[in-house]
Amino acid sequence: MLRGQMMQRPLLISDIITYAAEVYGTKEIVTSTVDGQRHRYTYRDALARISKLAHALIALGIKPGDRVATLAWNTYRHFEIYYAVSGIGAVCHTINPRLPVQQIDFIIKHAEDALLLFDEDLAGLIGTLDLAGPHAPRLVCLAGEERLPQAGLGPRAIAYEALLAGHPDGFAWPQFDENTASGLCYTSGTTGAPKGALYSHRSSVFHAMTTIVGRPSEFASDGRILPIVPMFHVNAWSLPYSAPLAGQSLIMPGPKLDGDSLFRLMDEEGVVSTWGVPTVLQGLLNTMARMKRKPNGLAEVVVGGSAASGQLIERFEDDFGVVVRHAWGMTEMSPVGSSGFLGREADHLDRSSRTKLQLSQGKRLFGVEMNIIDDDGAALPKDGAHAGELVVRGNSVIAGYFRNADASAAAFDAAGWFRTGDRARITDDGRLTIVDRVKDLIKSGGEWISSADLEEAAMRFPGVVACAAIAVPDDKWGERPALVVRMEPGVALDVEALRALMARTLAKWQLPDRIIIREALPMTATGKISKKDLRTEIVGGA
Ligand code: AMP
Repeated sequence: MLRGQMMQRPLLISDIITYAAEVYGTKEIVTSTVDGQRHRYTYRDALARISKLAHALIALGIKPGDRVATLAWNTYRHFEIYYAVSGIGAVCHTINPRLPVQQIDFIIKHAEDALLLFDEDLAGLIGTLDLAGPHAPRLVCLAGEERLPQAGLGPRAIAYEALLAGHPDGFAWPQFDENTASGLCYTSGTTGAPKGALYSHRSSVFHAMTTIVGRPSEFASDGRILPIVPMFHVNAWSLPYSAPLAGQSLIMPGPKLDGDSLFRLMDEEGVVSTWGVPTVLQGLLNTMARMKRKPNGLAEVVVGGSAASGQLIERFEDDFGVVVRHAWGMTEMSPVGSSGFLGREADHLDRSSRTKLQLSQGKRLFGVEMNIIDDDGAALPKDGAHAGELVVRGNSVIAGYFRNADASAAAFDAAGWFRTGDRARITDDGRLTIVDRVKDLIKSGGEWISSADLEEAAMRFPGVVACAAIAVPDDKWGERPALVVRMEPGVALDVEALRALMARTLAKWQLPDRIIIREALPMTATGKISKKDLRTEIVGGA
């Protein structure tokens, strides 16, 4: 081989913010803050404070490789932490505050966090954590000193603003190997203990670039993007990296993610694109329906994290002219694996053909290879018909779990591809359709029923706001589907009419035997319906 004669510069996260501060210096980060204010500044201002924080972290004794944890919402301060921590070669470890306390305790101990920065409204949670002992992280509250007493915090916690004060607003960002760890995020741990995905500078920068490539409208110039998806869950789908890289302003919602709060913020700030899970977007949609309009300027939503329903897609598009893009990914993939950008060729499609395309999880991103395998690990054809377990490989896919050899050994197939645990179909032009989580499939009389298909059909019934299909053990068939439904308040469910509607798209044997109404459905810490809890509740076992 003849070696190329080009310079080798590491792909580093600090280069994203120094680039954005120079080239897109006047683009904004606007935050609806935890204390109810609207904070705004530019990428240039952000870099000055990130520099101060980098100095402050070093003064606190944070060294390269140390884990620095956050329990925080989407705010400008969380953004600053992302860049300062990774920029000095330490690891930004985001923790989901909605996880059960025992899991947070486990994660902090497993990661051996040196420092924990948290939003002031989470002070109560901090009080319940097991932070005793010599190895407990030092605490920083993301507020000014004057707010510490309000948050009920004593002298143990340092105020973030006091930490920054007095430090220079310029910093010489060190150059180091691009494979250095930059971020850490534990999976929500629906089974067993949470497992850590340890990202590198290279994987994060590469991933941010590939989410931008080929998705022109999501990153259109002068775009204003609101990540509903939290920065504590897989880097808010990379938006804190990709938005500055593409010159987008970021509108940060803080802790309030109800439909009314999101609507008001989007409306006042002219948000063009917003990204989130279906449950939260459904709340926004409900507010839009009540207001009889969309937030000023909103052109598109990117939905992922769990399957978007046809009902959600069609209401956004047909009632409000807001284009929907369906994306798929995993914590282990940084996270975006596929994205449902529809080209011009989709413009002429009729509604149902367009919805069908949008219900698929889109096409794979550059740098993410996908295969489907059968139970014996043999590759299945990518013909859009065969379904098998989806395995992936790529530069932004984990090569193992952080300090967890057992989980790492179980996560890969014989060829070294990562096993996603999702069952999927792939077409010969790279379009992915997730059939179900492998463990959520229902096996009735030897035939598979997709819980996702049942849910997609049921969500079209007027008044159904959320639903989940689960397997219930059955003496004759092995398993039979049960459907748990949450209705709009005050709306009664006509069970037979729902069954009749579902029968239009499903075979009779696929229809749920039981339809159960619940006023609330159990949710996971990442905003998905917890089928594990539902199964325990309804069947009595996990
Ligand atoms: P997490 O690591 O918590 O982000 O969860 C990843 C899992 O969420 C995937 O393996 C899928 O089962 C599910 N998921 C993510 N996006 C989608 C989507 N668009 N449609 C269906 N399932 C999804």
